[in-house]
Amino acid sequence: MVNPKRMTIHLENWNLKPPKIPQRSRLFSLEPVAVGTPYAESLSSYLHRLAQEHCLTSQKLVMGEIAPLILKNEDKSELLKKNVSHLLGNSDAKPAINGMREMTGQLVTVLEELTMRQDLRFLTLLSWKGMIYDKGLFRKYRAWCPCCWEEWRQKNTTIYEPLLWSFKDVEFCLIHKQRLIEECPHCGSHLPAIAKLSPAGFCSRCYGWLGQEIKGEEEIEEYRVKIQGISELIALTPQLGYEPIPIELTRKLQLILLVFEQAIGKDLLLLGDLGRIIESLKIASKTNQNQPYHLLKLIIPVCEKARISVYQLFRSDFRELGKILFENFGLELKL
Ligand SMILES: [Zn+2]
Ligand SMILES: [Zn+2]
Repeated sequence: MVNPKRMTIHLENWNLKPPKIPQRSRLFSLEPVAVGTPYAESLSSYLHRLAQEHCLTSQKLVMGEIAPLILKNEDKSELLKKNVSHLLGNSDAKPAINGMREMTGQLVTVLEELTMRQDLRFLTLLSWKGMIYDKGLFRKYRAWCPCCWEEWRQKNTTIYEPLLWSFKDVEFCLIHKQRLIEECPHCGSHLPAIAKLSPAGFCSRCYGWLGQEIKGEEEIEEYRVKIQGISELIALTPQLGYEPIPIELTRKLQLILLVFEQAIGKDLLLLGDLGRIIESLKIASKTNQNQPYHLLKLIIPVCEKARISVYQLFRSDFRELGKILFENFGLELKL
């Protein structure tokens, strides 16, 4: 038995203050997949995975947790009984929700608040608002590469939908050289980006598995530049930060125009290759003073003709870009 007289209690060493418990998030702070890479997850995919983590349908998550923070004047218990379409109208349930719609911004704000994360806007194109024109940029329905999903299932990695697949001009998977599918092979349905219950990799109508191993490859070279350009844009989104500066892009495009003109001055044969893009650049620089630019009709083709990547266009500063461009066309640097 311990003799109490021999016990020494170092009271001064006891910290009687309650321990500091970090603030808890209302929802699980689920990490989004592959942020900062071309295969970054889309917002709609994140939302469905978050619902799954909480063992909820997406409808319950949206109407029970998210909608009350957006539709603040409506009764919470009434909202829970309603369908997601009460919050997300027809157009907000489409892949464009992963772009830069007003509802995209509201969903991101609320989800970041509920999960205490700061990286969810990178699952969308919100950072590009004001810089890139979003009309016609996105598909009407979900699209997927069945080979990617089948491969991820076999490797037992997270099954999700990359933001890349939301873009209308991403018609092929560059990894598997397969056309993206827009129709469920089991029930023939076109699927909305946000549905009542939409587990990743499954049809939200018939719940059939949408992954499939396909042998053989399709010819995709003519699509590569567009898909690569969009991939680079997605990957560099987190580096763009929160404040897009459209005027910087305008200045860079003007610089490219100057380089094209000088290049033609030196070698008239380039006129055939650069003539049309120069006209587009001239029109854009006149009309686009404060307007967003067209990604597929202008930014990506300009980069291709200027022999630079989309990454170089946005990440190089003005001087660096000038150096690269003048070198590409064998011109003397005179800025
Ligand atoms: Zn694939
Ligand atoms: Zn189906």
